[in-house]
Amino acid sequence: MHEQAISHEDVAESDLVTRRGTFRAVAFRADGHEHMAMVYGKTRMRENVLVRVHSECMTGDIFGAMRCECGEQLDAALDAIVREGSGILIYLRGHEGRGIGLVEKVRTHVLQDEQGMDTLDSATALGLPVDTRDYGPAALVLRHLRVRSVRLMSNNPDKIEALESNGIAVAARVPLLMPANDHNIGYLTAKRDRLGHDLPQVDVFESDLPHAVDR
Ligand SMILES: [Zn+2]
Repeated sequence: MHEQAISHEDVAESDLVTRRGTFRAVAFRADGHEHMAMVYGKTRMRENVLVRVHSECMTGDIFGAMRCECGEQLDAALDAIVREGSGILIYLRGHEGRGIGLVEKVRTHVLQDEQGMDTLDSATALGLPVDTRDYGPAALVLRHLRVRSVRLMSNNPDKIEALESNGIAVAARVPLLMPANDHNIGYLTAKRDRLGHDLPQVDVFESDLPHAVDR
């Protein structure tokens, strides 16, 4: 039932020297999008490979937006992989705004800013689904790379389940906690309270606020 392999027409790889070091850049097509797996060190046929499956977020990843923690998580995950000496960051396209796309995501920002809605209500108010992300392409490329099991950097227990249901052995979940601040606290709180993410730093931030009861 799991998709077998990436056909050779849909994959290309080369070395890619980055500020952090030299990765193997594996570009591939799946589900109508072009994705990238950034492979560092030896991961083939290995167990417990440190992996981040990162959902594309242009505002956070490229422009450093502070309303979500995506850009910081991307940096932290790449840093952790290099520190470990091996690992894989899979960058999944078509995941903007948990799958609604960039234009609709920016529309949700308007509702969040002007009406105080959170990340979920602003999507449903526009008639959009809260999360349509598919992790099949991540599983596909992990099989292509012959990874035996992964330690997944994520705060989202559902993501573990999604990978496992796509046939990937997840040996452990490794938290990837970014500091809360005034700009991302609403987003982090919604993720914790309404999407079931494990975000203990949010409690710490809330208890440090003199006006915590008002929030
Ligand atoms: Zn983001």
